[in-house]
Amino acid sequence: MMRRHYNAREAVFPRAVEAYRCREDPSSASDYCGLPIRLANFQGDYACAIDVKVGRPQTKEEILQMISYYDSVKAVGVGHSWNQQQFCSGINSSAINIVMTELTSTLALIEKPQYPKPASADFPIQVNEGTLTVTAQAGVPQRILLDYLANYTTPLAPMGYSLPAFTWYIDQTIGGAVATGSHGSSLWYGGLASQVVRIEMALANGTLANFSESRNAHLWHAAQVGVGRLGVITELFWFVPQAYAYKVSAALYFEGSDNITNSFATPALIRFLAAEDAYISVANGEPQILLNFEDDLSEIFHKENAPFQAIISIFVKQCGARLHWSKAGWPTQEPCYNGVAHFPTHGVTLAAQSRSLTPAQMHAQTAVIVALAPAR
Ligand SMILES: Cc1cc2nc3c(=O)[nH]c(=O)nc-3n(C[C@H](O)[C@H](O)[C@H](O)COP(=O)(O)OP(=O)(O)OC[C@H]3O[C@@H](n4cnc5c(N)ncnc54)[C@H](O)[C@@H]3O)c2cc1C
Repeated sequence: MMRRHYNAREAVFPRAVEAYRCREDPSSASDYCGLPIRLANFQGDYACAIDVKVGRPQTKEEILQMISYYDSVKAVGVGHSWNQQQFCSGINSSAINIVMTELTSTLALIEKPQYPKPASADFPIQVNEGTLTVTAQAGVPQRILLDYLANYTTPLAPMGYSLPAFTWYIDQTIGGAVATGSHGSSLWYGGLASQVVRIEMALANGTLANFSESRNAHLWHAAQVGVGRLGVITELFWFVPQAYAYKVSAALYFEGSDNITNSFATPALIRFLAAEDAYISVANGEPQILLNFEDDLSEIFHKENAPFQAIISIFVKQCGARLHWSKAGWPTQEPCYNGVAHFPTHGVTLAAQSRSLTPAQMHAQTAVIVALAPAR
């Protein structure tokens, strides 16, 4: 096929640039907007190379067209990630990031949230009360999906529905949250990707495919958390429980937790995650406790923060902790970060799956996921 490249950054399936507004929820703490105009995350960091194209498809067909025109393709949501390698599709004009919030029906819902029940067939969220399932377009922000489910009150579900467990903050798209294995804190459920039971994905060969555990468990475990490397998630399918009110009556106490939280500029965020099957989930195979520490000194003042590094080093060397493979800064944390030792199967598994799913040369970024393994 003759490959068609677009010259101007804004010219990919053009609509007036002025028509784009920030897709962040207006109440979001962030006062910066990257997507859908600029390829940068919500903080304005990790911008992609200027030549990389921004695709704003209005339909699934346009997504497939864009995939077939470009060598390297990656979907993006609202840019709530903190890592250029996870976010950018490439470094030049043969690469395109496809903005999933721009599909016509998704965008209409983002701009004017509404809760029809039942919804018309072109509505981006479809609840089936008979089977207790929900299907949603990948660009729908998680907040809107949760609001929609909560408002879906019926005699059968007087408090509406919900997702089994959701993430810590909820303004990212559901496609982005699933693709990154995003999670909140729960030992009953894993992250969003482990709750989804079917994923529709646009592949590099220009087709739409459906993945589920029963069709092919191996591909499913790769597709569940693919960080945009395996294809563009277009639709997601969940079983949804009825919402119910509950009261938290237990408190957890960690010996030494005061020391952990007080030693940092911002308190550590402590979360739990049930074991997951997705190959590159950080909880693959066994439940995890996740400790989130912010290195504000080097983040804000760009200064080396030796005491911070020393504490992280204690966690890694004395407690057997490992750094999360995706978070900002991991490539710079050597010797604490050792991908080969800490995530031995991650790079290999996803690279293998990526090859079987993407026969053409697209999604050339497979190699990047392999870079999860070698420490630099
Ligand atoms: C690896 C990782 C793990 C994270 N874990 C958590 C967490 O546990 N809890 C939490 O609250 N937040 C977490 N975050 C932050 C946030 O939830 C995620 O970054 C989430 O992906 C942001 O969604 P977004 O719509 O802004 O996606 P973007 O930031 O725009 O994209 C993030 C990644 O998801 C891929 N992606 C986005 N949409 C699609 C799609 N439709 N199809 C295929 N791939 C897609 C992109 O290619 C990119 O690799 C994590 C971030 C990263 C990078």
